[in-house]
Amino acid sequence: MVPIDPVHLAAELIRFPSVTPQDAGAIPFLARALEGLGFVCETVEFAEPGTDKVLNLYARLGKTGRNFCFAGHTDVVPPGNLAGWSSDPFAAARRDGVLIGRGAADMKGAIACFAAAVSRFLASRGQGFGGSISLLITGDEEAAAVNGTRKVLEWLKQRGEKLDACVVGEPTNAKILGDTIKIGRRGSLNGYLTVRGVQGHTAYPQHADNAAHRLAAMLHALVATPIDQGSANFEPSNLQISTVDVGNPAANVIPDTARAVFNIRFNDSYTSDSLKALVRQALDGVGVAYDLAFELTGESFLCPPGPLSAMVADAVEAATGIRPTPSTTGGTSDARFIHRHCPVVEFGLVGATMHKVGENVPVADIEALTEIYRGVLDRYFG
Ligand SMILES: [Zn+2]
Repeated sequence: MVPIDPVHLAAELIRFPSVTPQDAGAIPFLARALEGLGFVCETVEFAEPGTDKVLNLYARLGKTGRNFCFAGHTDVVPPGNLAGWSSDPFAAARRDGVLIGRGAADMKGAIACFAAAVSRFLASRGQGFGGSISLLITGDEEAAAVNGTRKVLEWLKQRGEKLDACVVGEPTNAKILGDTIKIGRRGSLNGYLTVRGVQGHTAYPQHADNAAHRLAAMLHALVATPIDQGSANFEPSNLQISTVDVGNPAANVIPDTARAVFNIRFNDSYTSDSLKALVRQALDGVGVAYDLAFELTGESFLCPPGPLSAMVADAVEAATGIRPTPSTTGGTSDARFIHRHCPVVEFGLVGATMHKVGENVPVADIEALTEIYRGVLDRYFG
């Protein structure tokens, strides 16, 4: 068995420009590294009609016992403004103790830590540790996430393969490694609102009905009252207006159509259905006709603190001296699919630069995260 150096592997993974849905060679490369540790690797491709096909990886070491899973994604968001990067976003430059590149924090760094942690765990325990370790890695997390983790989980279930516990390596920490562990996520619901009126001359408003005025009243109704006050494990639900579009080029024309899009991040006080009803109730109160379509990105979910989150928190504290705070903040993640199959928590690198120009992580954090994941395996397999 060739030991894996996490910083070296992270750099190699960053060099594949795997912007969703491109794999660019990242998953086959990772599979070869895992095969070197004794994993049996299966790559599976999914393509819903009308979507881009996506490559995923399920790698398993061991055939028996409890199956501990590390989950994550090799796809990355586009690099953005290239002029803002101090070096090529896919060169994985190392400077002043940090590794720079798209995906360094979100989350090729953590994937490298998964592999290196397993290699260290095997070096001390040998292959006969009495269980199984798996990696579930998707190339479709950052975009629609329809051909990724959700499909792999269905595929595993169909063939009777079970995960017993899972750690997702998303960059959960806000400022320093060890500050935050995620035990759930808010849901996300988009609303597409269209209001119609009657077009006319701005000098003769009595012969028209301004759609923009109607829309303004409806948007006010949506933001005037807080949705809730938060719940035991969640901050308050929040509605943000994303865009308002009238598309009227003439200053002397009253518009007949106005549109707005809004996004709600909601806690476990609601399901998407009860939240939709609440939104319609607020809009109905304005008393004008409207069209409204919803798009659900994910329901809220919570894996209440338990043995797995305690085990991860213990491993974090042992390696960093910090007891991580359980949190449900931030965007959604693939943990929303995994929690239906087994207990799941999320812990990874520091997310301060994720999706930003100049994304980077301290090399020391990659080392420390490897030790944390190794500590989780030690504790899980006793
Ligand atoms: Zn991510």
